[in-house]
Amino acid sequence: MTKKIIIAIDGFSSTGKSTLAKQLANHLGYIYVDTGAMYRAVAYFAMQHGYISKDFFDKDLLIQSLNSIKLQFKYNQNLAFAEMFLNDENVEQQIRTIEVSSFVSRVAEISEVRAMLVQQQQEMGTESGIVMDGRDIGTVVFPEAELKIFMTASASTRAQRRYEELVSKNPDITFDEVLQNVEERDYIDTHRDDSPLVKADDAVEIDNSYLTISEQFEIVLELVSEII
Ligand code: C5P
Repeated sequence: MTKKIIIAIDGFSSTGKSTLAKQLANHLGYIYVDTGAMYRAVAYFAMQHGYISKDFFDKDLLIQSLNSIKLQFKYNQNLAFAEMFLNDENVEQQIRTIEVSSFVSRVAEISEVRAMLVQQQQEMGTESGIVMDGRDIGTVVFPEAELKIFMTASASTRAQRRYEELVSKNPDITFDEVLQNVEERDYIDTHRDDSPLVKADDAVEIDNSYLTISEQFEIVLELVSEII
């Protein structure tokens, strides 16, 4: 029997982590966990309750409410991935908006939020055979992961990819707005005190600015085969 492993994929916003993670999980028959969706759902909860807006953020109220946040991934057969449910409501669409993107990094700076989500993520990994993507998977959630990938690409390449994804749902969105959001999230994610985004010493760095999705997949699959 082939060995089942933990694959940790970290990197900057919109580097295609989830595309790669889904491909690997489908190919290997592993579970895929998008930890960004969990931070996004908490940010969406804070928005819904009026705890965060453009120029206001009541962190204490959010921290006090963490016990009433229930997050679940439910696999959708048609989409071939697990959708995010917040307190039994499917919020997969709502958490992908530019508005949630503009708040999520501020929510992800809070240690209490991180502690809660990291614990849930570690519980999901007790049975190996998992691909998890995020910002701190190889450094904090699974420092013992057998394979760690760190993904990068230039900010404009990433903003262009994200823009193409978002404009189909929201024609009013501009490229500059998306680029600004990507750069702002990169800054907050790499400068926060708790679990900043850094490459783990033993992670393999992949700059995919000039790689196609299938070239990138082949490179990583080769790394996986060497381990299992
Ligand atoms: O991966 P995605 O872009 O959806 O993540 C949204 C945000 O959630 C990131 O910009 C980051 O602030 C936060 N995040 C995090 N740690 C993770 C995953 C996401 O801080 N493991």
